[in-house]
Amino acid sequence: MSATTTGRPFAEPAPSALLLLLGQGTDLLSERGVECAGALPAASDPDLVDRARAARAALGDRLFVLGHHYQRDEVIEFADVTGDSFKLAREAAARPDAEFILFCGVHFMAESADILTSAAQQVILPDLAAGCSMADMAAINQVEDAWDTLTDLGIAAQTVPVTYMNSTAAIKAFTGRHGGTVCTSSNAAVALRWAFDRVGGLDGTGKVLFMPDQHLGRNTAVRELGLSLADCVVFDPRKPNGGLAPGELEAARMILWRGHCSVHGRFSEANVRDIRAAVPGVTVLVHPECTHEVTEAADLVGSTEFIVKALDAAPAGSAWALGTELNLVRRLARAHPDKAVHYLDSTVCFCSTMNRIDLPHLVWAMESLVAGRTVNRVVVDADDAHWARVALDQMLALPGL
Ligand code: SF4
Repeated sequence: MSATTTGRPFAEPAPSALLLLLGQGTDLLSERGVECAGALPAASDPDLVDRARAARAALGDRLFVLGHHYQRDEVIEFADVTGDSFKLAREAAARPDAEFILFCGVHFMAESADILTSAAQQVILPDLAAGCSMADMAAINQVEDAWDTLTDLGIAAQTVPVTYMNSTAAIKAFTGRHGGTVCTSSNAAVALRWAFDRVGGLDGTGKVLFMPDQHLGRNTAVRELGLSLADCVVFDPRKPNGGLAPGELEAARMILWRGHCSVHGRFSEANVRDIRAAVPGVTVLVHPECTHEVTEAADLVGSTEFIVKALDAAPAGSAWALGTELNLVRRLARAHPDKAVHYLDSTVCFCSTMNRIDLPHLVWAMESLVAGRTVNRVVVDADDAHWARVALDQMLALPGL
């Protein structure tokens, strides 16, 4: 059975249509809008697949290709391993003999791979414009200003920063410098418990500054740790004091950064109601980057890896509606023809920045390596890499990983 939108089959859009909508720019401080430095093969080149295969074969064990679950099919075909951002970072770290790590994902993932691999290994992102809109919502100067606000109010000492994997290396480094940890969508509850234990436990008055995804922070705190919605405040970096009164910051247990995922933030309670009406007996499974209301309306909430495993374990004939990125949903639908896999939204939505990695960029990056040129290498500066590694190592030391 093929993937569908709410209750009806959908026509698959041409992936290139999205790219036409994306502008280009030159802001090197942003994860987005950086022009490609080289001359790409034409997308219409009928030999692209053969060229990619030839370059891949020529590079052999010198190259290891990582493919994120949300990546396009034409790119995933060349991945040596697929997974979510955390799994891929660990896979990169487990390949010390690979000279080149080609990361088919987005910029913060390539940064994490660079931090976790040796200095001799080169991490390459085929298109430097493949950023993450969520990661871009927390700039390091904004986070430092926010910390100054907490310091001025006298509450920084009882606050532990926790940053989601989906953040820049600079934010991870900030977290390491201030005694916090990185977390993933799989281990956010463990990370939050660890953080609260450092400042008096869940029953105390200590706080967590959670960045950059307010929804993952809120969902984890309320659904898994038993805190209330009233314990959470949203810190808006564009407003003085985050748009909060001092008393609100002092009373809060979870200070949530005002960031979100542009893909998972699209799903609504109405989507859940519609799919339940259209497909009786459907199990609604959504990612914890969805809004709190959507997670409350769903049957199951879990990370990308959880979603993949849930579909693997599901009985034949079962019906599922998935609230996550469309490339993954389509692949799961094809991998499970004995199950009915529906897309939760009534309109299709890819991760547009992830989709910037396409076959022309992949061919260009690999053929450049064959020719002896490294293009689009991602390198984190040494000081940030050190402190980000501290925060990542703290995460790896958490129970359950
Ligand atoms: S799906 Fe959302 S969080 Fe993931 S890379 Fe895309 S914008 Fe970022």
